[in-house]
Amino acid sequence: MVSATNLGFPYVGAKRELKKLVESFWSGKISEADLISGAHQLQETHWKVQQEQGIEQIPSGDFTFYDRMLDTACNFGIAPQRYQHIQNPLEQYFAMARGLQKAATATSEKVDVPAMEMKKWFDTNYHFIVPEFEPTQKFELKTARVVEQFKRAKALGINTRPVVVGPVSFLHLGKPAKGFEEFNTLDLLPKVLPAYVELFKQLEAAGAEWIQVDEPILVLDLESNVKLAFEKAYKTLAGATQVKTLLTTYFGRIDNNVFIVKDLVDGIHLDLARNPEQLEAVLPLLNDKQILSLGLVDGRNIWKNDLNKSLDLAEKAVAALGSERVLVAPSCSLAHSPYSTAFEKKIKAENPELFSWLSYSVEKCAEVATIAKALNGGRASVQAELNANAADLESRRTSKQTTNPAVRERVAAVPAQDYKRANAFPHRREAQVKKLNLPLYPTTTIGSFPQTKDIRVARQKYTKGELSQADYDIFIKEEMKRVVEFQEKVGLDVLVHGEPERNDMVEHFGHLLHGYGFTENGWVVSYGSRCVKPPVIYGDVSRRCPMTIDEIVYAQSLTKKPMKGMLTGPVTMMKWSFVRNDIPAKDLCTQIALALRDEVVDLETAGIPCIQVDEPAIREGLPLRRQDWDAYLDWSVGCFRLSTAGVRDETQIHTHMCYSDFNDIFDAIQALDADVITIENSKSDEKLLKIFERKQYTNEIGPGLYDIHSPRVPSVEEMKTRFADMLKYLPKHLLWANPDCGLKSRGWPEVEAALINMVEVAKHFREQDSA
Ligand SMILES: [Zn+2]
Repeated sequence: MVSATNLGFPYVGAKRELKKLVESFWSGKISEADLISGAHQLQETHWKVQQEQGIEQIPSGDFTFYDRMLDTACNFGIAPQRYQHIQNPLEQYFAMARGLQKAATATSEKVDVPAMEMKKWFDTNYHFIVPEFEPTQKFELKTARVVEQFKRAKALGINTRPVVVGPVSFLHLGKPAKGFEEFNTLDLLPKVLPAYVELFKQLEAAGAEWIQVDEPILVLDLESNVKLAFEKAYKTLAGATQVKTLLTTYFGRIDNNVFIVKDLVDGIHLDLARNPEQLEAVLPLLNDKQILSLGLVDGRNIWKNDLNKSLDLAEKAVAALGSERVLVAPSCSLAHSPYSTAFEKKIKAENPELFSWLSYSVEKCAEVATIAKALNGGRASVQAELNANAADLESRRTSKQTTNPAVRERVAAVPAQDYKRANAFPHRREAQVKKLNLPLYPTTTIGSFPQTKDIRVARQKYTKGELSQADYDIFIKEEMKRVVEFQEKVGLDVLVHGEPERNDMVEHFGHLLHGYGFTENGWVVSYGSRCVKPPVIYGDVSRRCPMTIDEIVYAQSLTKKPMKGMLTGPVTMMKWSFVRNDIPAKDLCTQIALALRDEVVDLETAGIPCIQVDEPAIREGLPLRRQDWDAYLDWSVGCFRLSTAGVRDETQIHTHMCYSDFNDIFDAIQALDADVITIENSKSDEKLLKIFERKQYTNEIGPGLYDIHSPRVPSVEEMKTRFADMLKYLPKHLLWANPDCGLKSRGWPEVEAALINMVEVAKHFREQDSA
């Protein structure tokens, strides 16, 4: 019999219960015992929900208070030195996750430790805690949460499949501790394996038959030493216990890492939602005992599965292996998808058609179960479900909400010349110099100014209907006026309106575009207890109306200095949303680019001389395999250019990137052909600047002069040093002075002090130059 299985569940809960629990614990409102019993209840609910949906192999150990990589580190007793004096294990765990500050008391010393580093989990918007290792690292199995969770489920009569982070991914995704940068974390494999063997033995003793071992790095390009580590690790683990290992990969294709299939594990899970072609490649490689887990239901999106299409693929696997050796599963852990559509009452009432296309985690479990049923009893045994599914898919395919012929025609007929400015940068620069009349080292900011409590309160009142449109507009105008006057006073050269009307750089525009929808409960964890609720792109995208003209034109009317129009770029508008999966990403991005292009042209027509199109997500969108980079960069850079190239030479196009680590995509950044780029530079010292020794950036550039992520005000001297560093690497006529990111999260006093110092620095170098 084919089994319906799951790899992981949205542990945060239906209504973000876990968030509330841990945050109450952090603020001292509930005790450790309350936190733990609350978490137990939540896990129990989640196991039962999955069971009710027809999942036969339910995961345990996928629940975490903060992050599973951090859990793994703590399970093996790996706390960096700086946290080791914290006695209480849970307090130590959260200190590693988010830092800890405690004043001294009569019985304890003062504690002040920062959090460990976070990194993005592959190409998701989830961030994991990066484990730190020393060359002499000891691994010792402590109380493993996965064993405890397995036992608790068993006591409830639920036989689960425990989930662990595999040893090779664990070491490879970790980093050497400070001071040991030269050592390779994989050298620790012989030391970590005994701890894993002990863990497997404990799970075996508790009654586990299978263990799900997550090794997601198998979808990356791996060096030969990593491959050797896999062979060594899985030979050791296979010989140590009778318990069977299901090795799971997801988010991509295993491709040239397919060696892992050969006799090393008892079963393998493949992401067939992303890469269905893997099935054909892997089937002939399995030995006659190995099982195959088919990742058919996309765990990364919110759309209903095409059940018939999944069955076409699954039937091939069953034909080749027999039903005993096939599992059906989501493509990856469902923690990357929201909880259940049952809580989307608003969409259900207001847009029932859109609602009928949605499937969150609970519904995805049911889809997995239906596929398994069809494989066991024939498609006819679930005919009603298949018919309903086909009808929903057909409604989506043919709906006026998804397809706008005018948009489609426009995308199909974009002339090649629309992808580039009429003239090259040197020529444009002449026109811009003449028009803008800016001093050497022009000063500007990235766009947002402090979002104060007043602004948040006004927005809330407005959303609730307690503040009228007219009153809200007056309020926003007052805010803009304050920001413009402030910038005049400080002496900045290119001004911004401050973005008081925006809550978020994607959602704000989503409301002004056709094709975007908004959920009530579409939450997914971003890191720790922090969740995000991305907008949903379900239809062809076009502007509902001009999006920013009123605000920017008003702001420009308050000053003689040039005002920057502010937009979010097409790649970011797409990457930070749940995107439709019924058209290629490139086509969707082109639709957004065209909508933005119209806005950019309208801003120019309205007399706005500078327009900034932010693209912070362009780098995080890079495919996991290097081989796929060129194709991605080609269309993503193309879409940025399409959105910005409709203006005259004298209109200055700016862009901003929230990172400095762009050495590997330098050529793509140059190819954006923005007239001015502002980038983060604050934390990387001269690392960013070093690239300009090897590569020439030909357009204007403003590497961040100071770090806005900290409330500290940098001194004039400090920024002078940094600016002098920049002048070593970059031609002076191309250099701008600006902070490294938007000022939204900062308070007014520090913003004022820092910007006054920054303007002073630009002035100093200008005077030095003319002397
Ligand atoms: Zn930024």
